[in-house]
Amino acid sequence: MTRLFGTNGIRGVVNQDMNCDLALNIGKAWGTYLRKTLKRPKIAIGTDARLSNDMLKNSISAGLLCTGCDVVDVGIVPTPTLQYTVREKGYDSGVIITASHNPPKFNGIKGVARDGTEFSKDIEEEIEKLYFEKKFNVVGWKEVGKFTTWDGAIDLYIKGILNTVDTSLIKNKKFHVVLDCGNGAGGLVAPILLEKLGCKVTELNCIPDGTFPGHNSEPLPENLTELISKVPKVKADFGVAQDGDADRAIFVDEKGIYIWGDKTLALGAKYATKKNGGIAVTPVTTSSCFDDVVSENNGTVIHTAVGSPIVARVMIQNNSVFGGEENGGLIFPEMQYCRDSAMSIAKILEILAKENRRLSELIDEIPKYEVYKTKMPCPHDKKELVMKKLADQTKKDESVLKVDETDGVKLYLNDGWVLMRPSGTEPIFRVYAESKDKSKAENIAITYKKITEKIIASA
Ligand code: MG
Repeated sequence: MTRLFGTNGIRGVVNQDMNCDLALNIGKAWGTYLRKTLKRPKIAIGTDARLSNDMLKNSISAGLLCTGCDVVDVGIVPTPTLQYTVREKGYDSGVIITASHNPPKFNGIKGVARDGTEFSKDIEEEIEKLYFEKKFNVVGWKEVGKFTTWDGAIDLYIKGILNTVDTSLIKNKKFHVVLDCGNGAGGLVAPILLEKLGCKVTELNCIPDGTFPGHNSEPLPENLTELISKVPKVKADFGVAQDGDADRAIFVDEKGIYIWGDKTLALGAKYATKKNGGIAVTPVTTSSCFDDVVSENNGTVIHTAVGSPIVARVMIQNNSVFGGEENGGLIFPEMQYCRDSAMSIAKILEILAKENRRLSELIDEIPKYEVYKTKMPCPHDKKELVMKKLADQTKKDESVLKVDETDGVKLYLNDGWVLMRPSGTEPIFRVYAESKDKSKAENIAITYKKITEKIIASA
């Protein structure tokens, strides 16, 4: 298991665990890793709007330059903009300085591979190994890298989206959108994109500001009260909010109803598989409404372990038509293999235009499920054994239709499913259950929690 890189890169509080020394040495390790196979790697670096960005960008860049890599600074950009730039411009890697939706005192470092996807665990482990062993390949004076800037990333990305959706169809509808960028990096892209798509835009918090004066950057209902009240007030077609690095988008329908990410994800899957079916990819934790809409269209769902880099890679391997996470992170392969909020906004506009219906009507058609979540303590060193015993035991259980061991133990039952998943950081198992009926979801969760607790006690 990696010690620095979590599910979303390296994160920490600025000038405590996330400091210049860490960034410098990560830069050296990153450069050393790239130089194992490349003579003169070229790396794009970008940031969100946080106050500590210049400090971390300069530190990590110095590490890359001293190990013989060239660095191209693309400025403040959304994470998907950097990812698109890496792939389209043929850079060998990308660095994004962001802590996504975390509070302003945090910042983070995330890696992008040359195909524009987030770093896989293997690459992160290799960089981490070099970091801890301090085996840096610092070059001679003649080979030190060059640092340049390029300000074309946002233009390139917006053009990419406009070439991917049916622009004229959207323009004809003259949509009205309330846009809440949450003072994140999305403010540099989404207003321009919407204008180019012929939309009237009511802007909220669209000026990037690393102190996040508008509201907390996580697009939860309690942070989006202004957006929720504004949409019906100005009679907009919908509202949308982005997280701090604009890889995730959360929508509000024309009535001002907050739409949870599982519904938007299912809507995306429904329209991606509508014509020819195909493969849609999502983690094991995603609601069955996703599976329902895909199988209705004769498509197939692949469930992966939790984490957007894993979803993206499985999508590439299976030539998938759609994928994503329930947190508003939708992946459209026709654009790129990463979570992309601006592309999600353009796609929702296209769906509304094609269907000629209101967003609330389309969301109403997505099947409804009830979820029950709980947890139980389990020491880290017992987790593997507990999962194996739980899977072995439940395979003999007659009420279990299928046991899925992709990530934790997921049991498919007649009236729903339950997942016992070990936390990566805490000594606990999380229990998720889902059913059409609220009390059933609770019953399922409690029943299998008790079974798992017995196994933990005897392990
Ligand atoms: Mg994010």
